[in-house]
Amino acid sequence: MGPPILSQAAPVPAAPAVSALAAKVLDGVRITPDEALTLHRQADLATLAYLADEVRWRKHPEPVVTYIVDRNLNPTNVCITDCGFCAFYARPNDTGKAYVLDRETIYAKIQETIDVGGVQILMQGGHHPYLKVDWFEELLGDIKARWPDLHLHAMSPPEIDHLAKISKISTRETIRRLAAAGMDSIPGGGAEILVDEVRAIMAPKKTSSDDWLRIMREAHEEGLRTTVTMMFGHIETDAHRIEHLRRVRELQDDTGGFTAFIDWTFQPGGNPMGAELLRRGWRKTTHAEYFRTTAVARIFLDNIDNLQASFVTQGADAAAVSLRMGCNDFGSAMLEENVVSSAGCFELVAIDDIEARIRAAGFVPRQRNQRYEIVDARGPAPTAEELARVGAAATGRHTRETACA
Ligand code: SF4
Repeated sequence: MGPPILSQAAPVPAAPAVSALAAKVLDGVRITPDEALTLHRQADLATLAYLADEVRWRKHPEPVVTYIVDRNLNPTNVCITDCGFCAFYARPNDTGKAYVLDRETIYAKIQETIDVGGVQILMQGGHHPYLKVDWFEELLGDIKARWPDLHLHAMSPPEIDHLAKISKISTRETIRRLAAAGMDSIPGGGAEILVDEVRAIMAPKKTSSDDWLRIMREAHEEGLRTTVTMMFGHIETDAHRIEHLRRVRELQDDTGGFTAFIDWTFQPGGNPMGAELLRRGWRKTTHAEYFRTTAVARIFLDNIDNLQASFVTQGADAAAVSLRMGCNDFGSAMLEENVVSSAGCFELVAIDDIEARIRAAGFVPRQRNQRYEIVDARGPAPTAEELARVGAAATGRHTRETACA
């Protein structure tokens, strides 16, 4: 018998309530929103990480972490919604900053993406007052005519809401028309925190919580898969975060349409809300808080398979650590990022670097598509050589020494 692997021992939960909840999670029993709040408030980070990692292995027994090669494409930054946290947009009359990309520029960006093996365009942008649904139908249709196999992950719920309003049609009709034109799936942007008392302060003109969820429900009913996001670490409380997760889990119970949950922290640069918060002595959310919240999300959202690490806001090192705190996906090897980078936070990570970080965390990297199917030339299953290289076993259990490398 070899020496005991001491690092495989689970951390001892501190409080009785946490201890009982930890046992419940390890037994695979769904926790309530109140219990999630207790975990968020009282569990130490090591316990949360351990539990989230256990849930992650249950859902993804193979030691594989996925990522996608794609490009963010923002056709316009013109917006009339004036979210307080946004450093990306320009008012329509801001001639120095406002733009609408012409077709040739869009085509060149897409071709560049495809040339490096990209399989998807993530298209989101501002709420332009004059670009109605027919403008986007034409754009999506033109792109699909040139690149039929390119996946268009496009138009978040607030954009659909805005297009429906200015085009004087329903949101369901907007979804149908955009899908018919080439929209393959819908990104979960614009969720921020799905609690209206929070939205009323940070984005009073934006789609309400109920409408955001209703539009996602409609998209799922129309056969589209979507992601869901949460931007936290600003004016919300921990209870607001749990309420956001509760509403997401409820919708997922009904439709099963969310492919992934993606959370990230608010970035204060270049936007009025950030300036005001900093003036009042607010401090940027720590990595530890990001890890806590992400771990609680993984534990609570037992009906969403994929959790994406946010290397754009946390940096590649912290994103790699989060792979042992519930995340099973490294997000996107983005060729372009405009929205978060406008707030002063942007880390462009090359494919080689992404793969190196994934391996350092003890996993085998694989490229995926938007449906989280592996589309990697190396094949879906890790080879024995790859497993040996990262110190993992084919059955999915790491040696714990590789945790959080
Ligand atoms: S976050 Fe989106 S909707 Fe809000 S101001 Fe920025 S571009 Fe407009």
